[in-house]
Formats: sequence, structure tokens, C-alpha cells
Amino acid sequence: MQKLSERLTLKHLFIGVLSLAFLLSVVSSMYSSYQGNVRLLEEQTLEKNRVYALKLSQMVNLYLSESLKRLEYSALKIANNMNDKEALLDEANRLLLQENTFNSVIIANPEGLIIEGAPSEFGLKGKQIISKERLEVIRNQEPFISPPYKSITGEYLITISQPIFSSAGEYQGVINGSIYINESNFFHKVLGEHHYQDGSYVYVVDSEGHIIYHLNKNRTGDNVYENEVVKKLTLGESGAQLVKNKHGVDMLAGFSTVELTGWGVVTQTPKSVAIDSVDNQVISMLLIELPLIISSMIIVFIVAGLIVKPLQNIAIIAENSIQESEMKELKQLNVFYYEALQIKNALIQSFSFLHNQVSFLKDQSTIDPLTSLTNRRTLDTVLQSWTYQGKEFSVIMIDIDHFKLINDTKGHAIGDEVLKFFSDQMKKVTREEDICCRFGGEEFLILLPETTVKQAYNIAEYFLKILADTESPSGQPLTFSAGIASFPRQAANSKELIEFADKALYAAKRAGRNRIIIANQKNTPLSDFLS
Ligand code: GH3
Ligand code: MG
Ligand code: MG
Repeated sequence: MQKLSERLTLKHLFIGVLSLAFLLSVVSSMYSSYQGNVRLLEEQTLEKNRVYALKLSQMVNLYLSESLKRLEYSALKIANNMNDKEALLDEANRLLLQENTFNSVIIANPEGLIIEGAPSEFGLKGKQIISKERLEVIRNQEPFISPPYKSITGEYLITISQPIFSSAGEYQGVINGSIYINESNFFHKVLGEHHYQDGSYVYVVDSEGHIIYHLNKNRTGDNVYENEVVKKLTLGESGAQLVKNKHGVDMLAGFSTVELTGWGVVTQTPKSVAIDSVDNQVISMLLIELPLIISSMIIVFIVAGLIVKPLQNIAIIAENSIQESEMKELKQLNVFYYEALQIKNALIQSFSFLHNQVSFLKDQSTIDPLTSLTNRRTLDTVLQSWTYQGKEFSVIMIDIDHFKLINDTKGHAIGDEVLKFFSDQMKKVTREEDICCRFGGEEFLILLPETTVKQAYNIAEYFLKILADTESPSGQPLTFSAGIASFPRQAANSKELIEFADKALYAAKRAGRNRIIIANQKNTPLSDFLS
């Protein structure tokens, strides 16, 4: 399992972060436009309901004041004809039928006896007024609009009254029109036919918070004073606000008081209905924006890919470490912005430094500094490796003859020169694949892969001949003694191999120097090797 940090690339992160940023900006813009639309619709609905409630309250006010005026006119008209039964009946009927204002009309004398009433089928005429609201009017002798109350028949009604005074200023009684709130009349028309289809509705409360009018007739008479809006209405305030109705539903309510009576008109729309269209608006907005969002994301991804590319390439090259060839690739890498350029340059610098250091240390550890031949340590490693692999090869172990004499007669520096000269010659007579090694002092070892002892012998012999024909820095041609052994034919391991070669070399020295001897095992006749 790869670690997360290894699997997670800059590209993934970049694209992830961009996607997240995109998503967040889309969501937040959707959310803010949703909220904005909700607020707008709320405000619009509140304002619409405020204006509508105001208009309705003005209409109710106008309607009531008109009704008062009508009755005032009638009162004036009949004031001096209180004994003309026909005139009284005419006026009562006219009021009832002509204006579609009242559901019933009565004319009563100062004692509260009904002298005339319409419609006649109500049988009002001749009855004594008993309702305290009407009796109070008679007592007060003033124009009056009653608060809504329940009649004996269970109907909710209001009464509008005008006192009748003769031209001499004598109190003659009262003319009184009743409006049955839930019956067909102008009052009902004004309020009832204006409710919307969308769940909006209107209700009217009296100055104490009782429902005078409600779309649901059963609620007439309910006390809704606890409602925040109604509370404000009873304080004479008008306006618009969000309010919870009896069922806990959020309502956007407009409210306004009726000047004449202190009643309040409330027009309200369920909030959920008002903002219903916002969801659709947001979805259609999203649909319109979607192609734009997708194409912008594609562009952003492409650009992100381009930005990330140089760093990605640098990372791949860095991962493949510091091969010389990759250094070339790294140098050719096209980077076009500051950070990537800095990383590239830093990598090139550290790669070059590292590369130089490594090759320097490699040379230091494998090369003999004086002769530039392979050193003893490396030789051991190669020997180990070759014998381990079972590779066939021969070794020539060489010791320069009478080298001490050169040192003694020509000096150490010349001695060194001779060692260098000797090594150069050795390089010349051996092949590319042969390994020439300084074994110690003026002793050398040549490893010859895929080489028989005979071939090795020939090479050594050729080397002797070259040296014999060439003057060395000591002024004299050099000679050497050598021992040859081969693996795996003669030796079972590298230690043995060196041992046998060394023995053969020793034998060559003893035999008078300037010669080559092949290691000889008891059971392997020399002729076998040389054949
Ligand atoms: P033989 O024919 O028996 O090999 O005699 P030789 O004089 O060559 O052998 P010996 O082992 O007696 O002497 C080797 C000398 O090589 C001794 C040492 O001072 C010298 N020598 C070893 N390493 C170096 C070197 O790096 N530079 C120089 N100038 N001399 C070295
Ligand atoms: Mg020696
Ligand atoms: Mg020697």
C-alpha cells in the first residue's frame, strides 16, 4: 500500500481545491440568491398586504361613514314626519333596498318602541328594543356604530344609528340600520370577495381583538388578542410583519386600523406560498448556469494541469534520481513560472554537485592514485563477484624485477615514474575488458575474463617483449616475473586463485626472473594448459 502522500499529487490537490472552491462558490451564490429572492418576495408580499390592508380599512371606513351619512339624511328627512307612518315605512324600505347597505332598518321613538321596521317580514314594528347596544344609542342621542354583537337569532351584526331631532331640536328617537356581517351586503362584498386564490385571506377584528369578519365564518367572535398583529392593531398601529397564526404557520401580514371604529383589517399570505416560486427560480438559474459552470471548470482544469505540469515533470525526474541522462532532461524542461524555475535550478545544482561528489568518491575508492589502475580493494570486490557468478577467467600476477635497485640508484621519484610507465604499458597490452590492478608496491594483477591460461600466458609474454623493446624512465628496459592461474579450472575460490598465482610468481623469481610461470597443480600437467 502506497502512503497517501505518495498517491496524492499536486495535480490531485490542485483540482480538488479548485473543485471545492467552485462548488463552494456555486453553492454560496445559489444560497445567497435563494436568500435574496426569499427576502425580496417576503418584502414584496408584506408590502402588497400592507397596501391591501390599508386600502380595505379605508374602504370599510368610507363605507361606515357613508352609512352614517345615509342614516343622517334619513333622520333629517323623517324628523318632522314622525307621525306619518307611510313616510317612515317608505324611508325604511328605501334605505333597505336602494343602497344594499343594511340588512334591516328600524325607526324607534325615544322610549325604544319600534315605530317602523323593514323588512316587514321581520315583524319588528311594534316591538320594544331590548338589546343593550340599541338602548344605549337611544340614551346617548348621538350617532353611533356599535361593536359587533350576537343577535337573539345568533347572527353577528353591527348597528349604525343616528338620533332623530325635529327642526325644533326635539329628540324624536333613533333610526338604526343593522348589518349582518356574514350576510350578503356591501360589507361582506368588500372583505369577502377580495381574498386571493393562493391561500391569502383577510380578517377584521374589533377594537378589542374579537374577530368581526373571517373567511371561516365559525371564527367570528373569537378573541385573537394574543396575536402580535392584533395587539398592535388594538394599539392603533398599522404596518406589515411576519407573524405566526393560531396554527403556528408563518404568515406575512399587512394590517391597518379603521379610523372610525378602531377596528383592524389584516391581510395575510402564508410565507411558504409567498416564497414557493424561489425554489423553481433557483433551479432554473442553476440550469442556465450549468453549461457555463461546466465549461469554466474544464478551462480551469486545463489551466491547472498546465500550471502543475512543470512541477509534475520535475517530480518524476527527481524520483528517478540523478542519472546523467535525466539531468539533461531536467535542463531541457520547460518551466514558465518562478517557483518551478527555482526548484528546477536548485535541483540541477544539487544534482550536479551530488553527481560530481559521487564520481569523485567513486574514483577515490576504486582507483590507485599513482598509476590510475584499479586498486586492491576494488580488485577484491571484483574477484568475489566473478567467483560467485562462476565466471571463467585467468589472472596474471606480476612483480617488477629488481625494482628496489631503481629506487636506490635513481631515486624514489624516478621509481614512481617507472611504476606509471609500467602501468601504462600494461594497459596497452591488455584488452578493454581486462582489469589491471595495482596489487601493492611494484606488484600487479591482471584479471582476464573468458581467457584460458594459454591466452593469458601469450598476453604476459607479449608484455615482456614490449618492455624489453622500450626504454623505461630509469633509462633501462624493465623486466618482470609473473605467475598465472585460472578460475575455476585450477582454484576453487578467489583466495586459492591468488595463492596459486603468487606461488607461480615466486617460482618464476626463483627460476631467475624475467619469466612467466603457470600455476601447476599436482594432478594437472602443464602441457594440459599450454596445449
Ligand atoms: P625482486 O626482483 O626480488 O622483486 O627485487 P625487488 O627489488 O624488486 O623487490 P623488493 O621487494 O626487495 O623491493 C621492492 C621495493 O619497491 C621496495 C620499496 O621501497 C619499493 N616500492 C614499493 N612501493 C613503491 C612506490 O610506490 N614508489 C617507489 N618509488 N618505490 C616503491
Ligand atoms: Mg615485490
Ligand atoms: Mg620486485
